[in-house]
Amino acid sequence: MPEGDTVWRTALHLDKALTGEVLTGSDFRVPAFATLDLAGRPVVGTVARGKHLLTRIGEGDEAVTLHTHLKMEGSWHLYREGTPWRRPAHQARVVLRTASWTAVGFSLGLVEVLPRADEDAAVGHLGPDLLGPDWDLEEAVRRVTADPGRPVGEAILDQRNVAGIGNMYKSELCFLLGLDPWLPVRDVPDVRALLRQAKRVLEANKTRTAQTTTGDTRRGKNLWVYRRDKQPCRRCGTTIKGDTQGPEAQERATYWCPRCQPAGGT
Ligand SMILES: [Zn+2]
Repeated sequence: MPEGDTVWRTALHLDKALTGEVLTGSDFRVPAFATLDLAGRPVVGTVARGKHLLTRIGEGDEAVTLHTHLKMEGSWHLYREGTPWRRPAHQARVVLRTASWTAVGFSLGLVEVLPRADEDAAVGHLGPDLLGPDWDLEEAVRRVTADPGRPVGEAILDQRNVAGIGNMYKSELCFLLGLDPWLPVRDVPDVRALLRQAKRVLEANKTRTAQTTTGDTRRGKNLWVYRRDKQPCRRCGTTIKGDTQGPEAQERATYWCPRCQPAGGT
């Protein structure tokens, strides 16, 4: 699942390519918007809000926002006219065309077109955005600690508490802070430090294509624990554990070193 930094970078690329251009065509391959045609409207900009993408199209009475989410498998690609797509056409959910670019949203988990004024209804539930212009550490701390008995690994993954942390950074952040992912939030010694670290990690990775938390961007060396179960901890050699965590039907894989992240806290 793409993390907040990947979504931020996707927004940047879409913004650079499309903003100021007039759409020469649009193609919505989702039933609710199959007949919608945005040709002739200018693209005003694309921003990320947590892991959501907002592409603003048209002005005045015609101002709409294309709200998309990459969810598990989604991606946006930009192609020059005549360039073959790198994913199968049947996975395309949205195609936006300008004179210079074709932007294709593949396997998007969510596609909707809203009146611009309704953006808040779509993303207003999100907690402070780690990469947003209005990042608010204290509000994020307040939300994360509002349910003191909740395991920290669940609390920081909940986008209503803080927006931008996906499953990979959840595991990596718990490792970096020495926190057992099942530790109740009330026993986390310094939630502020955890969220500051989250912001540092996402900021450091937002312009990179190869994400790292170890400082080494080479594949296989770039992460401490994520998807490294049954392998030795890079710090202490203990076998990394993997299990699922979260409420029923929303369980997500979690990875941790039982020595560096002892149960019951450090
Ligand atoms: Zn360890």
